[in-house]
Amino acid sequence: MGNMGKAAESWLKTTPSGLFCEPGGFYVDPTRPVERAVISHAHADHARPGHEYVLATAGTLAVMRTRMGAERAGAKQQEIAYGEALKIGDVTVTLYPAGHVLGSAQIGIVYGGTRVVISGDYKRQFDPTCVGFEVVRADVFVTEATFGLPVFQHPAAAGEIAKLLGSVAMFPERTHVVGCYALGKCQRLIGELRRAGYDKPIYLHGAHVAVCETYRAQGVKLGELRPATVADKASLKGAIVLAPPSAIADRWARRLEDPVVCMASGWMRIRQRAKAGGVELPLIISDHADWNDLITTIREVQAPEVWVTHGNEEALIHALSRLQIRARALRLIGYGDEEAA
Ligand SMILES: [Zn+2]
Ligand SMILES: [Zn+2]
Repeated sequence: MGNMGKAAESWLKTTPSGLFCEPGGFYVDPTRPVERAVISHAHADHARPGHEYVLATAGTLAVMRTRMGAERAGAKQQEIAYGEALKIGDVTVTLYPAGHVLGSAQIGIVYGGTRVVISGDYKRQFDPTCVGFEVVRADVFVTEATFGLPVFQHPAAAGEIAKLLGSVAMFPERTHVVGCYALGKCQRLIGELRRAGYDKPIYLHGAHVAVCETYRAQGVKLGELRPATVADKASLKGAIVLAPPSAIADRWARRLEDPVVCMASGWMRIRQRAKAGGVELPLIISDHADWNDLITTIREVQAPEVWVTHGNEEALIHALSRLQIRARALRLIGYGDEEAA
């Protein structure tokens, strides 16, 4: 480790398909089909179909197979456990928990005495449905920056869940429909509701059923889940319904009985955004690190060099320079933000 290693940018390169590790011959979260891919997690912008060989955790591969079909998830799929070291060519690859969604991993690559850790998407808040983020010391830390502005401060999820349950108690005749994306946020909301003692059935839009089943098959307990059929709106009185963000704004949700439209996203910190989306009850629940957690994590990883990718790179790089941490923007394209949907 340290300064004796080979400068990472000489062997870990930015390409139109994403980060390419030359001595290992693989891409990290490639944005188009490649021969060898190491994948951090199963969100659609990081896990694309059609690679020849895919290395990822069991959880990530299981979700990929659910969403894209077994074959499209990778002609050859290799599972790797957190913390297990695997030699690929001249490099050693190890995946570490990222705390983002089921199976999500940071990707550690050691070559010529230099360790690079690529965070993928991550959060530091507790999540009952996935393994918590692990701090790994590195020479180069590649971090996401989705919420890389000081305005983004995510409160504890338990408090936001208490707001939801408070509203359910106050409006027992209405249906609370919560917009949340299908992989990660949906299951985390269910897990947090159960932790808060909510033991009634939770209703799911059809788009959320398959990934919940995959979580269960991976050992995550979610309690009783039922399909939400808008035709049967009487039985949804007083219930909590989870649906994709796109469904809460359209006719699907409006056919429910006097719905309370809720949305769970880090972007709900911005009031205008909630208003514009017709959201009555915004819940600030995010699966990405907020501003403080980005800075805290970067300090704990203690990397002398930080590469910042997808999000608000400039503000974060500026803040790091004031902390004497050398950082630069990686101009990777093709990564979005599932919470913005
Ligand atoms: Zn993600
Ligand atoms: Zn991402």
